[in-house]
Amino acid sequence: MQDKKVEKLIKSEAKRQAEGLELIPSENYVSEDVLKANGSIFTNKYSEGYPGRRYYGGQEFTDQVERLAIERVCKLFNCKFANVQPHSGAPANLAVYAALLQPGDTVLGMDLSHGGHLTHGHPMTLPAKIYKFVTYKMKDPDTGEIDYEDLRRVALLTKPKIILAGFSAYPRTLDYKKFVEIAHEVGAVTMADMAHIAGLIAGKALRNPFDDGFDIITSTTHKTLRGPRGGIILTRENEEIAKKIDKAIFPGIQGGPHMHIIAAKAVAFGEASTPKFKIYAKQILKNAKAMEQVFKKNNIRMIGGGTDNHLILADVFGSLGVTGKEAQTVLDEVGITLNMNSIAGDTRKPLDPSGIRFGTPAITTRRFKEKECKRVAELMILTLKNKNDKKVKEAVHKEIKKLAKKFPIPKKFV
Ligand SMILES: *Cc1c(COP(=O)(O)O)cnc(C)c1O
Repeated sequence: MQDKKVEKLIKSEAKRQAEGLELIPSENYVSEDVLKANGSIFTNKYSEGYPGRRYYGGQEFTDQVERLAIERVCKLFNCKFANVQPHSGAPANLAVYAALLQPGDTVLGMDLSHGGHLTHGHPMTLPAKIYKFVTYKMKDPDTGEIDYEDLRRVALLTKPKIILAGFSAYPRTLDYKKFVEIAHEVGAVTMADMAHIAGLIAGKALRNPFDDGFDIITSTTHKTLRGPRGGIILTRENEEIAKKIDKAIFPGIQGGPHMHIIAAKAVAFGEASTPKFKIYAKQILKNAKAMEQVFKKNNIRMIGGGTDNHLILADVFGSLGVTGKEAQTVLDEVGITLNMNSIAGDTRKPLDPSGIRFGTPAITTRRFKEKECKRVAELMILTLKNKNDKKVKEAVHKEIKKLAKKFPIPKKFV
C-alpha cells in the first residue's frame, strides 16, 4: 500500500487477530475468497435499484452478481424472496419496520435485558422513537424458557403488527410454532431476526423459522454465516411483503447498494451451501457444550442454565465476585476477547454489568474442537479466579498464544 499509516494499522490488527482468541459470539473470520470479493472493483459501481431495474447504465455484471446472491440465499434458507442490499443488520430491521408499520404501530419483541437486540426497541434508537415496542421475557432465567403465556397475553392486549423472534444474548432455542400460532391469533406478521444464528440455520444445526411458518427473516451476514459485514431480508412466500421490503430498502432508507459486499455475500452463501459448512455449524454447538460443561463443573451460573446454541452468558459477578467489566479487561490481558453483558434482572449498570457473553463461532473456524474449547474455558476460569496474580496471568497468556499459533486463522473456507 502507498498509505503507510493505514497499512501499518491493518498489519497490527492482523497480528492482534492472529495471536488472540476471539470469543465474541458475533465475530468470525471470512475466507480469502470472501475477502477478495469484498475488496473487489465492484466497489466502484453505482447501481441504485434492483437487477433489471436500475437507474444508471453499465449494469451487466452487477445484475448478475446480485441475482446470484439472491438465488443462493433463497436456496440456502428455503424461501422465495430475498433482499441482499441492507448495509447491515440494523438497517435490515429498520427496513422491515418501515415496510410494514405506520408510525405509532406496535411491535412485540424480546426484552433487551433478556437477550433481545438494541434494534428491537431500545429507547435510544430511531425505531423506538417512531414505533411502539412491547416485550416478552424468559419465564425463569435459570431455565431460559420463554414465557409464552405472557407473550400471548401481551399480544392479545396490544395487538402488535409484528411479532419479532430473535436475540443477541440468549443461549436457548425458541419455539417458533408458538410464535406463529399467537401471531395468527392476533393477525400479526412474524419476523425472525436471526443475525446471530443464521450460519447455524444454514448449516442445519438449528431449526429454520421458515419451516414453522415465519413470514420474514432478517439477518446479518458476518456473524455465524461467515460472510462480509452486511444484512439480508428474506421473505418466505408473500410477494406483497417482499415488494414492500424492497421499496423500504431503496429508496426508503438506503441509496446505492454496495456491490462489492453483495459479491462477497454471494461467495459466502455459496460456501454456506456446502456439506463442510454443515460440519462447521454442528461443531460450533459441540464446542459451546464443551465450554458449558467446564462452567457447570465449576459451579458458575449460566443464564438459561447452559446453552443450546453458540453462546454462553455467565453470571461472573454472582458466581465469582468479578464484574463483567473486570472480567472483560482481565481476559483481554491474557489474549481472550469477549464482552461484558447485562443479565436478566441485573442489579448492576450496563457499563459494568454482572455477566460476560462468549461463544464458539470464531474459534471453530480456527478448527478448535471440544478438547481445546474445554481448555480455553478452564483458562478463563483460572484467570478470573486469579485476576490480580501476575504469574498466573502470564502463564495463561503464554498458553493462549501457543494455542493461537497452533490453530492459525484459515485462509481457505474448507
Ligand atoms: C448483530 C445484530 C444486529 C445488528 O447488526 P449490525 O450489523 O451490527 O447492524 C441486529 N439484530 C441482532 C439480533 C443482532 O445480533
